[in-house]
Amino acid sequence: MTIHQNLIAGEWTGSSAVENINPSDTNEVVGLYAEASAEDTKAAIAAAKAAFPAWSRSGIWERHVILKKAGDEIMARKDEIGALLAREEGKILPEAIGETIRAAQIFEFFAGEALRLAGEVIPSVRPNIGVEITREPLGVIGIITPWNFPIAIPAWKIAPALCYGNTVVFKPAELVPGCSWAIVDILHRAGLPKGVLNLVMGKGSIVGQTMLDSPDLSGITFTGSTGTGKRVAAASLEHNRKFQLEMGGKNPMVVLDDADLNVAVEAAANSGFFSTGQRCTASSRLIVTEGIHDKFVAALTEKLQTLVVDNALKPTTNIGPVVDARQLKTDTDYIEIGKQEGAKLAFGGEIIKRETPGFFLQPTLFTEATNQMRISREEIFGPVASVIRVKDYDEALATANDTPFGLSAGIATTSLKHATHFKRNAEAGMVMVNLPTAGVDFHVPFGGRKGSSYGPREQGKYAAEFYTTVKTAYTLA
Ligand code: ADP
Repeated sequence: MTIHQNLIAGEWTGSSAVENINPSDTNEVVGLYAEASAEDTKAAIAAAKAAFPAWSRSGIWERHVILKKAGDEIMARKDEIGALLAREEGKILPEAIGETIRAAQIFEFFAGEALRLAGEVIPSVRPNIGVEITREPLGVIGIITPWNFPIAIPAWKIAPALCYGNTVVFKPAELVPGCSWAIVDILHRAGLPKGVLNLVMGKGSIVGQTMLDSPDLSGITFTGSTGTGKRVAAASLEHNRKFQLEMGGKNPMVVLDDADLNVAVEAAANSGFFSTGQRCTASSRLIVTEGIHDKFVAALTEKLQTLVVDNALKPTTNIGPVVDARQLKTDTDYIEIGKQEGAKLAFGGEIIKRETPGFFLQPTLFTEATNQMRISREEIFGPVASVIRVKDYDEALATANDTPFGLSAGIATTSLKHATHFKRNAEAGMVMVNLPTAGVDFHVPFGGRKGSSYGPREQGKYAAEFYTTVKTAYTLA
């Protein structure tokens, strides 16, 4: 098997490699991927630093052409790259192809944004002086990504970084190097000058930590766990460096008595269990008012019975495997915790066997949960959700907001009054009315509040806030 190497200063390098294993079939090695050392990482940072002056002054047309070419190639290869994604991460093929299309759309969007860079010219408060406000690239951006969106998250960080004239050192998650390698290869062939985009695959404790400790990164954008996010923050403050964090969620989905039951059940099933519950926007707290509670639980349980858990590549599968053995243990540990805390296991909870050896877990629903239980407060990141019974809308909103996180919040209701009030008062970066808490557009801001996020929003034109720095210039005319 050939080794997919790291890209450092425009050269593919690296001979030590690790196996990328398919969680739907642990006998299958998806590919061999190089493991970077601390020295490789330092070389990548040096290459990005050396490439910055020229790239930061490159023409916007050059950036447009490269980003557009990359978007076009990803779109043309969506089935092949989508299959690679499904094999390395375990989400089902339609979701994996959908994510690949989204990555292509993100590159197309930022190809357009490169041509729309603009500043402001305004009069000074002093006579005969003009003021110009412009955006400039930050410098070298460190990009550290998680395993749950192996192509979309790298795309929504790499595309704006390059669009605004930064150079990049990119470290994907250990479990999913395949899609990251594919997009770096595409961008490299699309004509990026050497050193502008460097790929260093490998361990967080080595590659990631070397990035955090480097004085030469002007910004780090991170998506992952709260614990690692805190390390990124502490190390970035030390180096007076800009940083952006997207971390966990414990997203509420409120269901009111007046909800359309089908809409509520579809939204809850999608939010809680699709993509194996492994989305930071997934909902694991279903907050349901008394009048609809029993009907909702019965209908959701009925729906869960119809969902097929199996190999991600099978066309009949609705839910693929959990990503690896460690995450499966976390999920089953939380299922035990939920039982011990006194929640009622209404559906699922068991590891299941399929034709291929993989990490298959039934979608799991608890009822009679309280918002104070650990299963309601801590992010599980698996196909596990709980129903919390509340008296009315006011208690539902208070419960929804009673969490350390604030990424996404959903409500199912036919009341304009409650929908409007919830949109204004939910303490979350994204609010969904009669829609799942997960599943967002690529051209508008993404991000949260409280313990979920730190720094400017990602995606859409708001991405410029992180990837540029503002300059104010005064001229005596
Ligand atoms: P998860 O537990 O979901 O894998 P992590 O926060 O550990 O979440 O991982 C997210 C990303 O952060 C991965 O690319 C991982 O390799 C990286 N990472 C882990 N530890 C560190 C660290 N000490 N410094 C920098 N990056 C790290």
